[in-house]
Amino acid sequence: MTERATPVVFAIDVEPDDPEFPPGSAAPWLGFERCIDLFDEIRDGLERATRSPVRLSWFLRMDPQIERGYGTASWAAERYATQFEHLRRSGDEIGLHTHAWRWGEQQSRWIVDVGNESWIEDCARSSFATYRDVFGERCRAHRSGDRFMSNGLLAVLRELEVDIDLTVEPGMRGVRMARSRPHTADIPDMALVPRIPYVPSQSDWRRPALGQSTGDLLMVPLTSADPGPLLGSWRAAARRVRNGRRVLHRPLLPWAPNVGPRLWDILACDLGSGELTTLAFAMRSHGALDEQSRVALLASVAALERHDLAPSLAFVTATEMRKSWRP
Ligand SMILES: [Zn+2]
Repeated sequence: MTERATPVVFAIDVEPDDPEFPPGSAAPWLGFERCIDLFDEIRDGLERATRSPVRLSWFLRMDPQIERGYGTASWAAERYATQFEHLRRSGDEIGLHTHAWRWGEQQSRWIVDVGNESWIEDCARSSFATYRDVFGERCRAHRSGDRFMSNGLLAVLRELEVDIDLTVEPGMRGVRMARSRPHTADIPDMALVPRIPYVPSQSDWRRPALGQSTGDLLMVPLTSADPGPLLGSWRAAARRVRNGRRVLHRPLLPWAPNVGPRLWDILACDLGSGELTTLAFAMRSHGALDEQSRVALLASVAALERHDLAPSLAFVTATEMRKSWRP
């Protein structure tokens, strides 16, 4: 990566296709299987676009829901050992993606137990221990499931020596957990989290700590920008009025059919003004099973190949982004 390149992390959450699978079903993760071929194709496109090697970051589930559902938390690492070896040989990083789903015996259903701090801590600690057993090294990069973050979880991640977390989504406010899904707390508001990487304060994960140091856990927000330019002038104006003084940016996803190839114009503008300094995108593995998302993602990559922005981007692993960050 050259000194002036903008680092970009592309994260893929590697998880079961259906979040509410029956325990013991051990169904294969077809979305992840599809992702291997899809991202080989995307990697080629991005390498042509940026004229440099492209490294991706895969965030693997190894939490108690996987253990309960598949008999062992390391199920995917074992079943897909060849695929993970292929990804590591390509220079990619394997991080951890943790959800706090707990099997409710009485309800015979999964409960998103994000209101239970000690359960969240168990989910994180057991995932990191499994990772070390399987891969023989510490896990450096993390992404929380269900858009969950808290000061307590962050303290545990620090203790586990995590270098970089990619959970926060600036501009996300008022997003509720689906009513049909039992849960013990709601999704935290992320409207005002910074849009550029920051070392979070120990007393408020939504704010940068005073006196940022390069040795601390770095929070890298997913790329958020004002989608107004995609909407046409009168719809964008109506949206501004409707939102009043509230922030207009929200996460923009390269595989969302309503975002499309013009995404790069918006991001080039915000990178040019310094409102953004890095880019980070995340996609769930089962997204690869959705034809519309797949087509939209390939169209976004093709558009980047034609865009002036491309040669200034470097697709790096999460840990490489962490190393290149300066306060
Ligand atoms: Zn997930």
